[in-house]
Amino acid sequence: MKRSFILSVLSLCSFMHMTNAQEDYKKIHEELIVVDGHNDVIVSSILRGRDIGTRLTQGHTDIPRLKEGGVDVQVFAVWSDDTRWKTNAFKHANDQIDALEKVIERNKEHIELAKNVEDVYRINKAGKIAALIGIESGNMIEESIDNLVKLHERGAKYMTLTWNYNLSWATAAAIEDEKPDEEQKGLSEKGREIIRKMNELGMMVDLSHGSKKLFYDVLEVTTKPILVSHSNAAALTPHSRNLDDKQLEDS
Ligand SMILES: [Zn+2]
Repeated sequence: MKRSFILSVLSLCSFMHMTNAQEDYKKIHEELIVVDGHNDVIVSSILRGRDIGTRLTQGHTDIPRLKEGGVDVQVFAVWSDDTRWKTNAFKHANDQIDALEKVIERNKEHIELAKNVEDVYRINKAGKIAALIGIESGNMIEESIDNLVKLHERGAKYMTLTWNYNLSWATAAAIEDEKPDEEQKGLSEKGREIIRKMNELGMMVDLSHGSKKLFYDVLEVTTKPILVSHSNAAALTPHSRNLDDKQLEDS
């Protein structure tokens, strides 16, 4: 994320100061490994039957445009709305991974699933996009460590603990914003067990969407660095998913 953030700043500076801005971004993207840490295209396009192997007129991304933009590593978000998927969320996660795998199989000359960093370098060297999987919302493991392990085995490299609702074991930033006077439970003992397992598996703990209490509870437990895959500085944009200056300093 840091690398891609720095890249964004560089690109912005280039746009401001260089005359041939379009060529300049292409040059920068060619020289660096460009990582997009979170893309909702599985739910927004693939599950709707749109073929992202072709240039689409709807949505923001497809494989031709990712290649054209010089994106080297794309994290595909496997997402569920915690309220809609109160049951069968784990199946919903697996269905999304199945759908992504089919897209990758159909477009294997352009994209390949990476399960570790060596895969990323090998796939990029072959001129292809390295696809990674990120789980968006811990409700998809249905409180089961076994399900967490199974999703990791299928290639999930990170998991946001919540989406916009509280779980029994982790509380969400959106609810904290909505009900600021209510006590935030943060991370439960079950949640601590999940973090320890994620650390053991080498699965990144993604704190985008997590409440502040959750954020600090996780920092106490985790032995590995945390990730915020789609958050920014609240000082720039005050959104519930963004981090305040203290959080940025403390992490
Ligand atoms: Zn999100």
